[in-house]
Amino acid sequence: MPTVVRCWRCQDEHTPQVFCPACGALQPLPPDIDYFTVFGLARNPMLDEQALAKTYYALSRQLHPDLHQTGTAEEQEASLQNTAVVNRAYRTLRDPVQRGQYWLELNGEQLGKENNKVPPALALLVFEVQEKLAAVREASTAGPSDALGSLKVELTQVRDDLDERMQGLRQKLAANFSKWGQADGLSELLSELKRVLSDMAYLRTLTRDVEKVSSPFE
Ligand SMILES: [Zn+2]
Repeated sequence: MPTVVRCWRCQDEHTPQVFCPACGALQPLPPDIDYFTVFGLARNPMLDEQALAKTYYALSRQLHPDLHQTGTAEEQEASLQNTAVVNRAYRTLRDPVQRGQYWLELNGEQLGKENNKVPPALALLVFEVQEKLAAVREASTAGPSDALGSLKVELTQVRDDLDERMQGLRQKLAANFSKWGQADGLSELLSELKRVLSDMAYLRTLTRDVEKVSSPFE
């Protein structure tokens, strides 16, 4: 990411920002700008989501192409380009899970292939849920029955359990984010973050499987 850019109008050199601090001209943000910088935020995964939304709406208004219709070609181009960058940055940062994944990338890491393996902490749960889903599939081919009725009740409990676990993981994620301001233990934080995010990804897949099987009953 370029740390310094040059204003197309007055040639002032400054850190990437939406308006030139010297002449006020709209500036194209570098496409590879980091998403925290887009919103003038410190690079830290813990952020105030309400403040982020406010900044996003303010930026979107300032950048709206209608406002720059009569501007120079550079300004029109910058308004389009920046709108795309700002939208992409907002979509990523507003969601804690996507923000966590982006944070991994910024730190040179990603969830990668191990994501396909069942995380050890979830292995038993996954096994139980798959078994239950198989039982429901089998029972439903035979049509309505008492057995199917009670399986449906069990499936509702499974969904509640998965929801609860997801809530727990969201709290773990928030707790992980809150520790990044500290200077030490970064590699442990990083591996904890990977673990939480990969548990979440797996839990999401499992929840979708359960929903697919239980939706015909609703
Ligand atoms: Zn300028």
